[in-house]
Parts: sequence; structure tokens; C-alpha cells
Amino acid sequence: MAKYIFVTGGVTSSLGKGIIAASLAKLLQARGLRVTIQKFDPYINVDPGTLNPYEHGECYVTEDGAETDLDLGHYERFLSIYTTQANNVTTGRIYQTVINKEREGAYLGKTVQVIPHITDEIKRRMLLLGKNNDYDVIITEIGGTVGDIESLPFVEAVRQLQWEMPDEDCVVIHLTLIPYLRAAKELKTKPTQHSVKMLSQEGVKPDVIVCRTEEPLTQDIRRKIALFCNVKTEAVIEAADAPTIYEVPLTMMREKLDLICLKKMNITNYPEPELGKWKEFLDKLKYPRSKVTIGLIGKYIELQDAYKSILEAFIHAGAMNDSKVQVVNIHSEFITEENVSEKLMNLDGLLVAPGFGHRGVEGKIIAVKYARQNNLPFFGICLGMQMAAIEFARNVLGLKDAHSTEMSPDTSNPVIDLMEQQKKVTAKGGTMRLGAYLCTIQEGTLAYEIYQSSLISERHRHRWEFNNEYLSRFETAGMIASGKNNESGLVEIIELKNHPFFIGVQYHPELKSTVEKPQPIFVHFIGAAKEYAEIRNASRTPALQSEMMS
Ligand code: GLN
Repeated sequence: MAKYIFVTGGVTSSLGKGIIAASLAKLLQARGLRVTIQKFDPYINVDPGTLNPYEHGECYVTEDGAETDLDLGHYERFLSIYTTQANNVTTGRIYQTVINKEREGAYLGKTVQVIPHITDEIKRRMLLLGKNNDYDVIITEIGGTVGDIESLPFVEAVRQLQWEMPDEDCVVIHLTLIPYLRAAKELKTKPTQHSVKMLSQEGVKPDVIVCRTEEPLTQDIRRKIALFCNVKTEAVIEAADAPTIYEVPLTMMREKLDLICLKKMNITNYPEPELGKWKEFLDKLKYPRSKVTIGLIGKYIELQDAYKSILEAFIHAGAMNDSKVQVVNIHSEFITEENVSEKLMNLDGLLVAPGFGHRGVEGKIIAVKYARQNNLPFFGICLGMQMAAIEFARNVLGLKDAHSTEMSPDTSNPVIDLMEQQKKVTAKGGTMRLGAYLCTIQEGTLAYEIYQSSLISERHRHRWEFNNEYLSRFETAGMIASGKNNESGLVEIIELKNHPFFIGVQYHPELKSTVEKPQPIFVHFIGAAKEYAEIRNASRTPALQSEMMS
């Protein structure tokens, strides 16, 4: 029988419930338990796939093609396990199921209500991953903040489960903020008291309080929180601000969060946590021996969460290369032929990001041209790969109006065209080419050197593809399709033959990079950027070199 840990949040949003949940999961996994995490989001969209990145950050895609919350990315990166459609549930999906059942007549004339019908469906989904004995512990993160109208049914479902389950099968962790008033030099517990009171009014009693804080919690403060929140003092956990999210499992271990949960779940006989690889990674992350500067060209750069998985993949790949990756965000809308060299000349590598729609694409194309002509390591992801194909068609093949039919439906040279299966699709939600597909890699190519394999699987999220009618012209001129999906012939990877490192991929390699298994293209890209930096550094003055290292 699986045991369940629920993580709720109070006081404010953005306290990092996802990271706390993932860190606890990591510690339990490191002690030999089979763990997974799921997230329940209170919004009414059926999934975040239709949300603008400005609303909700990146849309994370799982192996089975679910468009999910970006916290699932953290779960996978921390645990090196795959999540699925079942790991992310929204209010929209719950209601959709209940309403469909009502239409089928499944409720036999009864009035369909939030309690019990909606809460029953929430509970069914909360318990789902525990059904097949695949996991010992299932951690469920409840999105939103306690007290929100939207999250009430989820908290109510937790209340019912806490009541129905044996005590030792269920743990509730409440994450709150302990603000520090600088003028008074005091940590304040009142918001936490109120938040726990609200949770209690909704019928849920927390077992553990995790406190985000900028200042250390004194023993007195811990006792006070414990007293007012009705938990044991050792169940008040300090979650101090950490320099990197990857440090949090270790800080949670020092605070004994895992031990408190294990005790409550009555799990005994566990080994010391095996965190060797994790610590090795952290060491490399904290003490890099070199530094590279990578330009991230995108149109959502004001919002870091829009490119979460790419930024994390750089962290993993940087550690692997003993190198600090400094990412410079460059807004594609503001790149022009006139300013491109000024904007890109101090970079050691260029990544053109995924995206949709017309805004900023010309700037991306200009940036690709600069990278191609200046031997600057280039990595294009999804839309970034498509822009590399368009740039090559325009400036090498001389097809001046080459474009993607996404931005220019009437172009006479549609080098990027809508996939055949997409032509009849009208609905937007969940209809792209999503999830994992195989890709066959040609030997003797950069892609083969990177993957060391002729068959790989990566995740996708797109509607447009490289138009194979142009492929022979591209290949004759030096841009080859080094990876393809054998079934459909879809071009998955393009690369330039006469360039030190120039690769574009139709898929999203960033989604599969984890701490313990950094994604190989990212690793090689940073390697290429390091070489590029060394060559450039050799031609720099010593003063400039030390400035670059600082
Ligand atoms: N808009 C492009 C397409 O749908 C690229 C998508 C992406 O970058 N994820 O094909």
C-alpha cells in the first residue's frame, strides 16, 4: 500500500512548494523508497497547454504527451523518473470528467454537487498512482494558497482522505512564509498562525510546518510556531533561502524533514540516503573552473519561468563541463542587421528558443545568420531550428522569401510547413504533435557524436515541420538532416557540415535533462562554447581575460 504526503501552501504564492516537494521526494528516493510526485492545480483550464507563457511559465511536456505545469519538470529533474498525464490534474479536468459522466447518465438522476461528486473525482485521481503498487510514497502538491476559493475542493478532498486513511498512511505538510521585519529585527509568525488557522477551519490538521525564511529560526520561534499551529517542535522545519534549488534537498535533510515524515508514516528500516552523485553535481556547480556566456534569444525573456527547462539544462550541462554558464537574455524583437554584432559579439554560444507566432522571428533569423557566419556555437530548439532552416534557405540557397507558413501562409518558399496531420485540426488544446517520438541518427554526424547512438527518443510540441521538398537542395549546400523520424520522414535534426557546432532540433531536448543525466546536446554545446571561449580568450589582453572570468 502506498502512503500519501500532501503539500499545501499558505501566506503567499511562489514559496516553492514544488521544490520542497521534489526535495523531500529526492531524500525518500535516496533512502531506497519508490516515490513519485503529482500536482493538482486549481485553475479551470483543462491543462496549461493553451496558456500563454506570461501567464504560467513554460508548459512542460511528459513522455506520454501531456502538457503540464512546470513543476513536473522539477520533479523529473530531481528524481530522474518520468511523470505522466496522471501526475498533473486541474480543476478543469476534474469538472470535465464529472460533466461527461453526468451526460452519460452515470449519476442516475442524482443532483451532481461539489461534495461528494467533485471531491470524489479529486480523491480518485489523488489515489490513482498508488493503485498498482508502483510506489511506496506519493507526494501530492496542491497548487494555489490555502484560503483561495479555487483550492477549497482540493483541501476538502485532503480532509476526507486524512479522515479515511489510517493515520500512518497520510502526512500533511504546510509551507508558509515567516517574514523578517528589518526595522524591528524580528521574525513574525502571525501570518503562519493565520494560515494554519484557515487550514484547520477547512478541517485539515498539518503534521509538519515548513517555514520559508530569510533569517534562521530560533528555538523560541520554533516552539511558538509549534504551539500555535498544533504540531511538535521538531516538525517545524526551517527552509532558508538557498543559493540554488539543488541545495534544498540537503538543507531539508539537515532539518530532518524526511525523518519526520518517515516517522509519521511508520516506515522503519531505511538506509542512510545515497546522495553521492547529487553532491558531486553540487560541488561542480558551486566551484566551476571556467565560465561561458550563452545568449538565449527569445521573445518571453522578461519572464524567466518561460524557459525554465532550458535554464536548468544549462545548469546540469555546465556542471558536467566544470563551467559556470552565464545566460544572457536577448530579446529577439530588438535584434536588427545593424546591432546584431554588437549584441552577440561577447557570446560563446547562441541558443535560439522555442516559440509560436510572428513576433520576434526576424530577429531570431538575423541572430542565426551571425552564428553561422562567425563560427559561433549554435543550438536551435523547435522554432529555433525552424528559424535556422529559413535563414539558410534565404541567405545560402538564395530563396529570399523563404519562410514558415506559420508566419507567412502565402510564401512561395515554405521551407517550414504545417504537418499533414495538422491540416484538419481546428481545436487548440492538446492537438499538437506531443510527447516522445523516435529519431534515427545518421552515423558520422555531429548528432551521432553527441548521442553516440543511432536511435534516440525525445519529446515534442509543435505543428510545423521541415518541408522535405527542399531537403536535397539544403544537403547539397551543406546543411544536412542528421536525424529523422523513420516512420514519417519528419526531419528532427539539422546541422551544418562546415561549422564547429551548429545544430537545430525539432524536439525539446531540455525536457529530458536531469541532475544525474544531463542532456547530451546541452553538454556538447557548452563544451563547444568553452572551446570557442578559449580561442577567443587567447586573443584577448590579460586584463580583459580576468574581467571575463569574474
Ligand atoms: N511554432 C512552431 C511549431 O508549432 C514551433 C513550436 C515550438 O517551438 N515549440 O511548429
